[in-house]
Amino acid sequence: MNKYGRQSGPRYSASANRAKAPATQQCQKCLEFGHYTYECTAERVYTARPSRTQQLKKPIKRIEVEVPEEFLPKRKGLAAKILKDKEDERKKKKSRKSSRSSVDGHLSMHIRIIVEQRKQQEQQERQQVIIQLVRIVAFSLQIWISL
Ligand SMILES: [Zn+2]
Repeated sequence: MNKYGRQSGPRYSASANRAKAPATQQCQKCLEFGHYTYECTAERVYTARPSRTQQLKKPIKRIEVEVPEEFLPKRKGLAAKILKDKEDERKKKKSRKSSRSSVDGHLSMHIRIIVEQRKQQEQQERQQVIIQLVRIVAFSLQIWISL
């Protein structure tokens, strides 16, 4: 019995004909097989695992595969020509874009990006404040209703 006047542990009655745990059943406490976790009398085996945060902080190591020259795609023939033309076209488009931005000036572009980022940040902060306000109102409403 615990302080709530309830029996602690499993809720089924001990007298019920409970099936014994199969041999494949692994206990999550001691990691042994053949009994359920709630039946465990053994000591807990602590296995430390990296948290999700730790896992995500670790940078992903990129696997670089060196391809021998003979396996590299050879760009010859019509297909290669079409690919090259397309690449050239893409380059032209890019240079057109960059020439436009160079008129405005690289620095002003940079400033505009920073201003945009600031605006977004401010907006987010404003949203946060609104969310907080809504929470407070909701909370006080709850209290008011419960009175
Ligand atoms: Zn166990």
